[in-house]
Amino acid sequence: MAFKDIKGQEKIIEVLRNYIRANRLANTFLFVGPEGTGKKLVARTFAKALNCKEQQADSCDRCDSCRKIEANQHVDISILGVDDEEIKIEQIRQLQANVNLRPYEAKKKVFIIDNAHNLNPESSNAFLKTLEEPPQDSVIILLTSKQRFLFKTITSRCQVLRFPGLAPDALSRILKDEYGIDEKQAHFLAYFCEGCLGKALRLKEAGIARNDHKGLEELLRPASWSIGKSTEQNRQLLKTRLNMLAGWFRDMYMVKIGLAHSGLIHAQEQEELLRLTQRYSFPELDGIFNTICETLFNLERNINVKLLIANLQATIWKN
Ligand SMILES: [Zn+2]
Repeated sequence: MAFKDIKGQEKIIEVLRNYIRANRLANTFLFVGPEGTGKKLVARTFAKALNCKEQQADSCDRCDSCRKIEANQHVDISILGVDDEEIKIEQIRQLQANVNLRPYEAKKKVFIIDNAHNLNPESSNAFLKTLEEPPQDSVIILLTSKQRFLFKTITSRCQVLRFPGLAPDALSRILKDEYGIDEKQAHFLAYFCEGCLGKALRLKEAGIARNDHKGLEELLRPASWSIGKSTEQNRQLLKTRLNMLAGWFRDMYMVKIGLAHSGLIHAQEQEELLRLTQRYSFPELDGIFNTICETLFNLERNINVKLLIANLQATIWKN
């Protein structure tokens, strides 16, 4: 994909293209923004645009450089941290050794560190050394959705670019016009994903956008969720379900306080929302909301998942 085809981050892309055109590149960039706002896509396209043999400040997607980068097979372009696990010092040492070598075939070597908040203190310190003497023909791009976990000393040495989420209405239009998603689903995905296109498309692909009542009844009874083994994939699925549950209760709250018309995630399900809202008082909705947030928080800390879910079930169905 070329810069001209990426939707929703036009301002950031223009900034990056201007850097290339003016040949005024920082050595280290930090892309900050919520998940699914296109940070990785923009970083990879930036790597292509820096090295494209046919286009200036964009990628042609035809030359051998663009094609190799797209296929993850370019020797001078590396991406680490993709699996969202701790980034170890050995990985940073390898990067350091590599960063000081001249490019093999590229104009600029590019190192992308995805999920940079996973740098542990040891690897952060090692990485700082690279930032103190940045190599001229390399560009390092850090990506994160959790800037607060990054060392300030790292952040302060980077050119920081912030990726905003799209306005839900704008995202809803893109989902309809560009991806052929019907109006009801597009609205749900745009509001539920708070303007993050990537997240909306992932949910759509995982079949989570389906919004039938059988799905809702199951969602409202956490004890019926099949949780499975504690793998990363199951944890992500559980997080998505908890977020969806939070979405329904947020909407119930809005309906109960009479704000049914502004920005409901499930705008097409008002009857269902009214019916559900009658089950709960304000303090109960508050309590459930807090329990969902706590469950999400504890899930990150690997606390017994079955226990967390049983507790959530008890809060939702205490009457
Ligand atoms: Zn090209």
